[in-house]
Amino acid sequence: MARPFAESFYHSRAWERCRLGFMRSKHWTCERCGAPATVAHHKVHLSPKNINNPNVTLSWDNLMAVCTDCHAELHRKNQTMKFDANGDPIPPR
Ligand SMILES: [Zn+2]
Ligand SMILES: [Zn+2]
Repeated sequence: MARPFAESFYHSRAWERCRLGFMRSKHWTCERCGAPATVAHHKVHLSPKNINNPNVTLSWDNLMAVCTDCHAELHRKNQTMKFDANGDPIPPR
């Protein structure tokens, strides 16, 4: 889901071209589970700081072809949630 700062980027020709080329190179296949991929996920998440840096936004090294389910999973994991030894989430202080 595009945040406001990234909206113009996600609508740019450069991103559209980059995404299509990348997804084609991955045969539109999810790199995690092999399902049909729909999303070019940025490993380094886009932020207002890096949105104008093509080495982050348009670099294939920073992209990952994933399906919708894996994409949701990736973003869940990326939250700064910590877990204790039992695997229970530690609430933020
Ligand atoms: Zn997947
Ligand atoms: Zn993503």
